[in-house]
Amino acid sequence: MSCGEPHETDCSEVLDHLYEFLDHEMPDSDCTKFETHFEECSPCLEKYGLEQAVKKLVKRCCGQDDVPSDLRSKVMGRIDLIRSGQAVPDQDVTASAPKLREA
Ligand SMILES: [Zn+2]
Repeated sequence: MSCGEPHETDCSEVLDHLYEFLDHEMPDSDCTKFETHFEECSPCLEKYGLEQAVKKLVKRCCGQDDVPSDLRSKVMGRIDLIRSGQAVPDQDVTASAPKLREA
């Protein structure tokens, strides 16, 4: 999917390597290219934001990189939804946490 605007880095390339970018597993020069792309391309920025949110959620839940397989499959299912361009429910998975603030 593309926003129709010409970019120095192709949208498909950005989305293919999104995880490497998120995990900082790419050279600084490539990171810069991606950051430039996200500034120019809101569809990719949106996808990046969603995947980053999922990643953060996984980190917070588990406190480690070794994610339990059931949670991983849940998250991957969500990512598949995002990737396929389907509307992802606005409701965040984090919203299921019980509200205990009012004592
Ligand atoms: Zn793009």
